[in-house]
Amino acid sequence: MAIKLFESLSREVRELRPSEPDGVFRFYNCGPTVYAPAHIGNFRTFVINDVIRRLLELEFPGKVRHVRNLTDVDDRTIGQARTEKRPLAEITRKWTELFHADCAALNCLPPHVEPTATGSIKEQVDMIDVLMRKGNAYRSADGSVYFKISSFPGYGALSRIRERELKVTNSVFDADHKDDIGDFALWKAYKSEDDGDVKWAGPSGAAEGRPGWHIECSAMIKKHLGETIDLHTGGVDLLFPHHENEIAQSQCCNGTTFARHWYHSEHLLVDGTTMSKSKGNYYTLSDLVAKGYSPMALRYALLSGHPRKQLNFTLDSLHAAESALKALARFSEGVAAGAKALEEGASTVFDGVFRALGDDLNTPAALGALFTAVNATDPRGATLADKAAFNRVIYALGLDLSTTSANASKPSVPEAVEHLAKLRWEAKKSKDFAAADRLRAEIAASGYSMLDGKDGYKLEALRKA
Ligand code: AMP
Ligand code: ZN
Repeated sequence: MAIKLFESLSREVRELRPSEPDGVFRFYNCGPTVYAPAHIGNFRTFVINDVIRRLLELEFPGKVRHVRNLTDVDDRTIGQARTEKRPLAEITRKWTELFHADCAALNCLPPHVEPTATGSIKEQVDMIDVLMRKGNAYRSADGSVYFKISSFPGYGALSRIRERELKVTNSVFDADHKDDIGDFALWKAYKSEDDGDVKWAGPSGAAEGRPGWHIECSAMIKKHLGETIDLHTGGVDLLFPHHENEIAQSQCCNGTTFARHWYHSEHLLVDGTTMSKSKGNYYTLSDLVAKGYSPMALRYALLSGHPRKQLNFTLDSLHAAESALKALARFSEGVAAGAKALEEGASTVFDGVFRALGDDLNTPAALGALFTAVNATDPRGATLADKAAFNRVIYALGLDLSTTSANASKPSVPEAVEHLAKLRWEAKKSKDFAAADRLRAEIAASGYSMLDGKDGYKLEALRKA
């Protein structure tokens, strides 16, 4: 199965392929800034990237190299350490540990390498040295180093940002030290009033200080994946300036194509605006677990919208996800118990799921195809090919069904409730809506809700308040 994905630079849907003769697929995903808990918007991006990782593992078995960084030094991390009056490393360790725990709960595969910015200072300084030697960077009066965007004709190609917009968008914070307002910091000279004890020896001729944010990804990619990678991803907010700047740094330093494929997923919204740490309008995974929802329900809900469209988060979507997971867990159990004769290589009812995933990562269509297949198949009578395909689908989506609480067996509905449900269905069919409503109330009083479909109904135990 080919994996086709939208490519942000060309704006075309293109097939993912490794470029090097070793057949290794080189994948980099920008990681979190570890100064606060990651919110579920961040996890939308990481879960989407985890599905990409899983599809790559299936497509290029044993040949995927996935790197994701941890930004553990920048204005925000240093600011948090100063607010709490604690060492920077203590703050970033705490939030890194929570991030790892959340990733594990959401069943995200760990990257093969997870470098930190503070662990890659030498590589960043080396890269800045090369950029200064080549005339792409200059030292400013205070000993900081800036990238000169006029030295790179390709600047702006990814975000298609026009010069005028660039001037408005870019921070004017340190405009005094720059030749051009669009230039961005590769190295920031130490300022005792802002930086506390956070500083390193700088590139040649520069002051002591710390790296700018963008250079860390360029330097880590070069170290862990090489000069050209096959896929580079992140949320849409990273398109400009972060990824634009990464391209400029890496291509000027290495003189070759940086990323062959760029992919950006859209944001998770809450009440119609982007969920963000700075706005404070966010949920964390722990907030949802405290409300009684499972991490898998969140994973499912995050995959229920198209990754390239904004998704508005609601708690209702978690209810729907919990019941979908229960249905999948029941199917999974049935399939494990059954399975007919071997039908190697036969096409299966689950092919549509992979077609949707391979077609620009259309996760809502994939979930739709999954339920169509599950509803059309008696799990105990499923063929071995269907069983294998179902398991591959569940792996690709990263749904850990063993954690679904109602996976033991189909909850048995009391006979009396079944009887009421039958009566209500008949009443509804004969358009006696008053009787149908009365029966629905009786069913609810017995602790069940009746979900009506086109051709039948389902009974579900009501959640305990
Ligand atoms: P940060 O920790 O701020 O560096 O962000 C980590 C990742 O989460 C980046 O890829 C961001 O693009 C992404 N991100 C930030 N906010 C959201 C959001 N509301 N929805 C989806 N992804 C987001
Ligand atoms: Zn990055």
